[in-house]
Amino acid sequence: MDCLFCKIAAGQIPARTLYEDDQVFAFHDIAPQAPVHFLVIPKKHVPTLNHLTDEDKALTGHMLHTAQRLAAELGCDEGFRVVMNCNHQGGQTVYHIHMHVLGQRQMHWPPG
Ligand code: AMP
Ligand code: ZN
Repeated sequence: MDCLFCKIAAGQIPARTLYEDDQVFAFHDIAPQAPVHFLVIPKKHVPTLNHLTDEDKALTGHMLHTAQRLAAELGCDEGFRVVMNCNHQGGQTVYHIHMHVLGQRQMHWPPG
């Protein structure tokens, strides 16, 4: 599979790994937009949020729990932001779903 994040999850491309289990992989973003900026991905290849099925409900729940736990471990006790970009108009550039987790700076809304 010619997918950057599948290769990262398989250990074929190096990443700054934060956490791994049988279902998910978490690593620091290569171009951080905040002092804390990491990604949580499923090991299963899902191209966009639009490709999720009923079968993936537990998996996406596990991704969110992983995001919350790692944010706490990285000291984001004042708050943090979770973002998932879907498709080109949503700003998605890597077509393997991922949660961005951003923290340790003040966030603003709307994002622009
Ligand atoms: P998105 O625009 O939502 O698809 O986000 C893709 C994210 O992947 C961006 O924040 C990139 O900085 C990040 N990224 C791209 N390549 C790598 C890589 N090799 N290691 C870590 N993060 C990456
Ligand atoms: Zn993939």
